Amino acid sequence: MSDIIALKHQFEKTENILIVDWGVSNVCNYACTYCPPRTHAGTYPFMPIEKILAFSQRIVDHYVNDLGKEVYFLYTGGEVTLFKDFITLIKGQKENGNKVSISTNGSRKLKFWETAKKYLFQASLSYHVEFTDLGHFINVINLIKSDVYTHVNIMVHPDYFQDCLDAAYRVLNETDDITIDLQIVLKDFIEPYPYTPQQRKLIIEANKDINSRLKLKRTRDSYRGLMKLKFSDGSEELIKPGDVLTQNMHTWKGWKCYIGLEILVVDINGDIYRSWCGDSEKIGNINDADLEFPQEPHICSKPMCTGGVTDTMVTKIKV
Ligand code: SF4
Repeated sequence: MSDIIALKHQFEKTENILIVDWGVSNVCNYACTYCPPRTHAGTYPFMPIEKILAFSQRIVDHYVNDLGKEVYFLYTGGEVTLFKDFITLIKGQKENGNKVSISTNGSRKLKFWETAKKYLFQASLSYHVEFTDLGHFINVINLIKSDVYTHVNIMVHPDYFQDCLDAAYRVLNETDDITIDLQIVLKDFIEPYPYTPQQRKLIIEANKDINSRLKLKRTRDSYRGLMKLKFSDGSEELIKPGDVLTQNMHTWKGWKCYIGLEILVVDINGDIYRSWCGDSEKIGNINDADLEFPQEPHICSKPMCTGGVTDTMVTKIKV
């Protein structure tokens, strides 16, 4: 069998997109057992909206105006929808011509989503088995899916394995026009839980089955699609980013990784990094007057990629 020589995006034009993955606080209404306390402890309140909008403009100036890239702001948390200025923020971003995505647990009331859907480009709703009210979760999906590109991540907690698989199929059966991904969860966001080979196999099979039965109405090539494995014999194979982890393929040491060019991370301190994986130096802070944004890809030095699904959705090329 030939070797993998690249992990690329399904759609070539995605390479020109920069995702600004911004953790705006660690305030959350859930406390999932696989989520490290530092990401939901509530010790970092939301950043002032003025600072978020001001730094967003600096990103646009550099990446859009100077480099000709397309930028998407992806707000995460904690739970970003708890931000008191959330609607003002996403409205302001839309009025400035910026596209906003969020990663959310979907727990806010339907009335909130009625307003939010007018300003969001994309939403990734994560199902957390210990806390999610599945009926409400499905109602939110059905409320926003026609206005907002909607993706659902089913976080498969090994202690509630069958419940998570059942939830994925219920979401599939009771909604349409969304994408769905079952994902293994990482302890402290680093090490995968000890899934049995059978559990990993079942997740991969369920993903394939669900993927083949999605009821999509709109094409989704404008944002992010699947990833594509390129082999040394010239062949290619599409793969879900989560399956790269589930199949333990995430070792890219010595490879060229396009963190900093396809993803830029802002953490809850306002510190800026190329990615979540921690393999590169801090770039600076959103309050710094002078910042040097990356111009070139990074060479990975980690034996195993620790950036989770987010950093997996970045081009990696064997050198
Ligand atoms: S550990 Fe970091 S640098 Fe290495 S492949 Fe993962 S995201 Fe890229």
